[in-house]
Amino acid sequence: MIILFATQNFGKVKEVKKLFKEKGIEVLTFTGIEDIPNVIEDGDTFESNAKKKATAFYEAFRIPVLTDDSGLAVDQLNGAPGVYSARYAGENANDDENNAKLLTELKHHLTPHSARFVCCAVYFDGKKYISSHGTIEGEIIDSPQGENGFGYDPLFKPNGYDKTTAELDLNEKNKISHRAKAFRALSEELLKGSR
Ligand code: IMP
Repeated sequence: MIILFATQNFGKVKEVKKLFKEKGIEVLTFTGIEDIPNVIEDGDTFESNAKKKATAFYEAFRIPVLTDDSGLAVDQLNGAPGVYSARYAGENANDDENNAKLLTELKHHLTPHSARFVCCAVYFDGKKYISSHGTIEGEIIDSPQGENGFGYDPLFKPNGYDKTTAELDLNEKNKISHRAKAFRALSEELLKGSR
């Protein structure tokens, strides 16, 4: 089985390729492809954004695709940044700017700042969609720690750990992450369907 994982986020590529390889599914990525559809992620749920991306990428490449939409939800911020996680500090904001904005927003709230990463993974082959969800619970700490991962990883400490997801190596993060849970469930559904 060959599937295109349609994302330009290198952090996600590393995580998902490894997970699928363990299941014997080959995942292609955009490396070397230049003409990539620009999908506006304007849905109000992770699932609607992931499905929108899956549809657009299937139309463009005509092979089965995997997409995901994910983000961080902080309880004291009523679930923000949520579907706006990638552009919390503005349209072209980078990870450092998004992290700085998060810390500013939380400055006047008492600790602990409970939060979760959420992921919806979608498969689409032109006929059927399969969706899976995954979450990981934790809290936002008050200064960045660690160099691994991407996005809000340096500020997110999973429950039961004394380090952030940016201090975990890829194997450790893949055991517990929202994306790992969503894609592992999705890969099991796919394998079930192919037996
Ligand atoms: P997406 O590419 O639209 O799914 O945007 C995801 C955004 O949510 C990323 O740019 C990060 O800011 C954040 N995010 C999602 N998953 C993770 C993760 O595993 N670690 C850190 N940040 C994440």
